[in-house]
Amino acid sequence: MTDPTPGEPATPAPEFRKDPVTGGWVIFAPERSRRPEDLMAPEVASTPREGCPFCPARDGDNGKLEIIRFPPTPDYGGQPWTIKVLKDKFPILSDQENYHRFGDGMYDLMSGHGHHELVVESPLHDDGFPRYPDSHVRDLLSVYQNRSLELSSFPNIRQILITRNSGHDAGAQISHPHSHIVGMPIIPKRIQEEVSGCQGYYRFKERCVYCDIIAQEREDGSRIVLDNDCFVAFTAWAARFPYEVVIAPRVHLSRFETIRPNEIVLLADIMKGVISAIKGSLPRPSLNYIFHTSPTPQARTAELTDVAKYYHWHIEIIPKITRIAGFEWGSGFYINPVMPEDSAASLRGWLERQKQLTGAFPFSRTQSDAPRSNPRPPGSAQG
Ligand SMILES: [Zn+2]
Ligand SMILES: [Zn+2]
Ligand SMILES: [Zn+2]
Repeated sequence: MTDPTPGEPATPAPEFRKDPVTGGWVIFAPERSRRPEDLMAPEVASTPREGCPFCPARDGDNGKLEIIRFPPTPDYGGQPWTIKVLKDKFPILSDQENYHRFGDGMYDLMSGHGHHELVVESPLHDDGFPRYPDSHVRDLLSVYQNRSLELSSFPNIRQILITRNSGHDAGAQISHPHSHIVGMPIIPKRIQEEVSGCQGYYRFKERCVYCDIIAQEREDGSRIVLDNDCFVAFTAWAARFPYEVVIAPRVHLSRFETIRPNEIVLLADIMKGVISAIKGSLPRPSLNYIFHTSPTPQARTAELTDVAKYYHWHIEIIPKITRIAGFEWGSGFYINPVMPEDSAASLRGWLERQKQLTGAFPFSRTQSDAPRSNPRPPGSAQG
């Protein structure tokens, strides 16, 4: 937590509260002097370079918040750094809070203990994924890996979440490209649901459900977007959102943090290809991506001892096209106006057009290019 400016009230500490009916946790992260009118986000498409807290011109302002910076590369000559990691000035969870669970009558709550870091992805205010040089995407993924490894080693941290909000509609409050890495003391509901689903499938079939999905999707091909020797990108059979894409390793791996350097090269290529295809195909390019990796080793309590056998790490990339309305909020159903087969065909079409324009395929090979040597039959993958 940063020091309040003299005269301003101190920021209340963040805390978790558990919904006693659904069991879901809500993080309360109150910022200083949040009036109702401040909560209504202004309708701006981007925030200006002037006064941007992440531009190198303002480096002096976040001295105490800076964790690490990486030196310039030839692609970013003349800049003081290429990637910079900061503590979030308004963290949703704070390492200044002690880990503490307690009750208030029938209600459960927990201190807002955790870690919240920002990765400023580039020194250039208007930079972004499709423009990053390939080597820069690899560097960014290595930063994600190294910070995730460090945060997952801290006491009481059970889950690491890496998220990126690109564009105002996706929740980015500052245009300058940046992502968030959060270390949490509890496993969030969405990942808990995935872990439980994977665990149930594994108990029944003794196989990883994602390995089986990947084998079947590669065999079928209709929902494949891109594919290379280590990773596959596809639209899920029951995708919640139009053009939502999942990227997953083709072999069973439970933690993104254990990715190897040769795999980072191929992950960088497929991520850049998918994000470029989404941004190139859609008129409103806001999107989120989220890394779903296994709960940390210290979270592997009695009921999660085998999680590495059945949880398969992946990235979810979600363009912000539809707005969640009353029916979705009230029912928990998603209404997706685009069939995932059509989303995948459209993204493949954009990638094919790039191939025709450039004469060579700029990203990982598509399913149609890739040799289809003995795809594993559905259901043959081992956990
Ligand atoms: Zn900036
Ligand atoms: Zn698997
Ligand atoms: Zn997921």
